[in-house]
Amino acid sequence: MTDIASNISLLKTQIPSSVKLVAVSKTKPVGAILTAYNSGQRYFGENRVQELLNKVDLLPRDIEWHLIGHLQSNKVKYIVPFINMIQSVDSFKLLKNINSEASKINRVVDCLLQIHIASEETKFGFSMKELFEMAESQEFLNIKHVRICGVMGMATFTSDTGQVSKEFRYLADCFNSLKNRYFAGNHHFKEISMGMSGDYEIALKEGSTIVRIGSIIFGDRK
Ligand SMILES: *Cc1c(COP(=O)(O)O)cnc(C)c1O
Repeated sequence: MTDIASNISLLKTQIPSSVKLVAVSKTKPVGAILTAYNSGQRYFGENRVQELLNKVDLLPRDIEWHLIGHLQSNKVKYIVPFINMIQSVDSFKLLKNINSEASKINRVVDCLLQIHIASEETKFGFSMKELFEMAESQEFLNIKHVRICGVMGMATFTSDTGQVSKEFRYLADCFNSLKNRYFAGNHHFKEISMGMSGDYEIALKEGSTIVRIGSIIFGDRK
């Protein structure tokens, strides 16, 4: 087995089969993605639109692509035709934009609401106050071409595992409040995307349903 294949199979022994493993392939070449693909991996995550577009046409059609990085509204139209999930929806403006581009081609795009859970200011995401305002607005009712499937978050980059647990627990609480208030009975609203190479074990303990892992699979990025 190649390193990539064995890294994936080892990870799979540590991740429950009910949890989706998204292999984060940003900065890595198409050959590395193909190696992972040939070992059975089908879910891949990229954080930049241009890089994603460069790779998509060179790779098998049955890959499920997840966008996990901040998305500018003017780039939405390039990915809406093929993207399987946009995990990084961090503003109402962006959500409306995705809805409008998806309606033009009569698609419904699966999305996650990115929530700001870290203490760092630089990480993108909604606050709960913003989400409540959005969900209660009249305009929100007109969103028909986006299917909101849950939430996503990134914890603070710290060795303090107590803090990381607390932030993931907060994200799970946010998921539950949103579910109870606005998505009760909506069986699509079920995902909590949290956990990366450094903190996926903590995330799994706090109820993650999707982990996004790059370095453990493909090696460190330069
Ligand atoms: C890069 C990235 C990951 C994966 O990070 P690793 O530490 O390499 O596992 C996960 N989520 C997001 C949003 C990322 O940008």
